[in-house]
Amino acid sequence: MRTKIVAGNWKMNKTLAEAKALTNEVLNLCISEVKSAVKVILCVPYPFLQSTTEQCEGTTIAVGAQNCSEHESGAYTGEVSAAMLKSIPVPYVILGHSERRQYFREDGPMLAKKVDRALAHQLTPIFCCGEPLEIREKGTHEALVRQQIQEGLFHLSAEAIGKLIIAYEPVWAIGTGKTASTQQAQDMHAVIRKELAAKYGDKVAQSIPILYGGSVKPDNAKELFSCPDVDGGLVGGASLKARDFVDIIKGA
Ligand code: PEP
Repeated sequence: MRTKIVAGNWKMNKTLAEAKALTNEVLNLCISEVKSAVKVILCVPYPFLQSTTEQCEGTTIAVGAQNCSEHESGAYTGEVSAAMLKSIPVPYVILGHSERRQYFREDGPMLAKKVDRALAHQLTPIFCCGEPLEIREKGTHEALVRQQIQEGLFHLSAEAIGKLIIAYEPVWAIGTGKTASTQQAQDMHAVIRKELAAKYGDKVAQSIPILYGGSVKPDNAKELFSCPDVDGGLVGGASLKARDFVDIIKGA
């Protein structure tokens, strides 16, 4: 049985004081209201990683970054390495978010290197995949997502891929208020698991958590998370409000 995971992706939002207040609110609500064994991860902007880590110390909430460099170290002004994240220590990192793929031209080969750097420093990547609207409308969404998984992950050994979390996030559902139906989510999650099983065997495929992301809200979380292959969610907008985020966690 896979543990349910709910990860919040704050993107480029909040000041330091606001980040501290939001983390406090989430922690307090989780302590008083969340009784089930859900893994909660807060993926916050780089400048807040240290303080959020300190705030979450000794709690069940973990901290993640939203990206890391494909390079180990060196003359890459403005970049942040996996080793730096590990030194805080931050245990999780989102890689290949569609906003990174779209605005920062992150492609399969680059993401494969980022995954390697993260794993080399014992970080758990939350590897994102998902199709834009025009691909869904053309009917080639399954092929594209399979390709994203192959390009970013299939160079890994079975042992290494077993350390990952995958997030399926249809681009047309991110920040749009338009959620994939439970059937659409379950269908794609099953496609991803089948692809993993074909390469690594059923045991490995069954062990990898696959999260759904795209306008997850308190009123749709429970239904989405009850699909057999949906192991929780990656939550953007709704993770910026403690009340909504914790209600989503309770849906898991
Ligand atoms: C995201 O960006 O990872 C995301 C799922 O955003 P939202 O929940 O706002 O659609």
